[in-house]
Amino acid sequence: MKIRFVTLGCKLNFAESSALGRSLLASGHTRAKDGEQADICILNTCTVTDTADHKCRQALSRLRRENPDATIIVTGCYAQLTAELPKPKGLEDADYILGNDAKFEIPEIVKRLENRQKATDAKEPIVLSTTIREVDTFHGALSFSHVDSEGEEQHTTIADRSQRTRCFLKVQDGCNYFCTYCTIPYARGKSRNPHIAELVREAQQAVSDGAKEIVLTGVNIADFGRSTGETFLQLLQALDNLEGEYRLRIGSCEPNLLSLEIIDFVADSRHIAPHFHIPLQSGSNEVLQIMKRHYTRELFAERVAYIRKRLPYAFIGVDCMVGVRGETETNFIDYLSFVEQLDVSQLHVFTYSERARTRMVEMDLPVVPPTESKRRSDILHRLSEQKTKAFYAANYGRQACVLWESRNDKGQMAGFTENYLRVTAQYAPNKVNTFETIIYHL
Ligand code: SF4
Repeated sequence: MKIRFVTLGCKLNFAESSALGRSLLASGHTRAKDGEQADICILNTCTVTDTADHKCRQALSRLRRENPDATIIVTGCYAQLTAELPKPKGLEDADYILGNDAKFEIPEIVKRLENRQKATDAKEPIVLSTTIREVDTFHGALSFSHVDSEGEEQHTTIADRSQRTRCFLKVQDGCNYFCTYCTIPYARGKSRNPHIAELVREAQQAVSDGAKEIVLTGVNIADFGRSTGETFLQLLQALDNLEGEYRLRIGSCEPNLLSLEIIDFVADSRHIAPHFHIPLQSGSNEVLQIMKRHYTRELFAERVAYIRKRLPYAFIGVDCMVGVRGETETNFIDYLSFVEQLDVSQLHVFTYSERARTRMVEMDLPVVPPTESKRRSDILHRLSEQKTKAFYAANYGRQACVLWESRNDKGQMAGFTENYLRVTAQYAPNKVNTFETIIYHL
């Protein structure tokens, strides 16, 4: 059968789509080519914001329009939350709606569909979903990707060797934190993970298959160990000892879980890149309280200062949210002055959107008007540009190790250094998927 995958959202979704894709291709199915009608379409969705929901609905309409006779399976976080509603509102065009756990039944469903025509008279999608909070199984996944010559990340289900530059390894799933604005714990379930030994086996296989960079992904990755009694630090120690030439990047880590011990280990490690992604969300302690985050801004500043002490040129990316309920102008000014002082490399700015089921929508707090949220977001975006520019300038003339990864196109190739500086050079085919030491120039 010809299968089309459309994946939206985070790296975790891409890793899971890839794992499913590999399993389907191994069973003899093929990938529908561009412009070709698919027999089965699989849409892996996201529900992190209103916009994400909208994109899922748009992607479904498009799949239905372009593949009128296909069986369409919608899965992922938006599907999980929709499956729990009395009516599958917004996903009526689907034939199957599968929650996040049922997602891994797709190879079995495809097998059953193989010798059958699509049931055109079915009025409602078939919904398969479990109560996600009760799920404690972990489904491993990894995907390969490389940046193309435009600097865009391209994920592949089955990558040829030259495209196996980077692999995203799922090390954890779910979250127990229930921040007041977030739907993810409702869509992904409780925090869980596999044993370290299993992840070491997968990572070693990926390196042996040609991956030069492994990025650890999950929902709350530093919470690793809840289901196995191990720790995130132990995982890093084990993954730092693989055989072969590779580097490791840590995905987003909650600041309260990013201990000084972990930072010390990264600083002294052989393979872990000096690259941190830390969600701040607000620089106002009052707003952090409303959000029910697990730290104060003082703890956050301490972590950043310690990273800078041990790894002065590390890339530090910080998630910042604006416009949550109750965020006053005074809170925002306080937030802004805090972030201005932070020695970080980039801000990833998100605007809060009201999400059903979250505790924040029940809070009796003033809603920030959209124009005001946009103004705050624009201010932080401008600040981010200044910080990134300063970070690049500070690296000028320094020695760095780049992993070249794009293929030719416009006679250029691109890659990232260990501290996440994007660099380009004239295309040299023999350098793709190899490390090179360079002197960084702007
Ligand atoms: S830590 Fe908070 S923001 Fe992150 S997934 Fe968990 S509940 Fe959501």
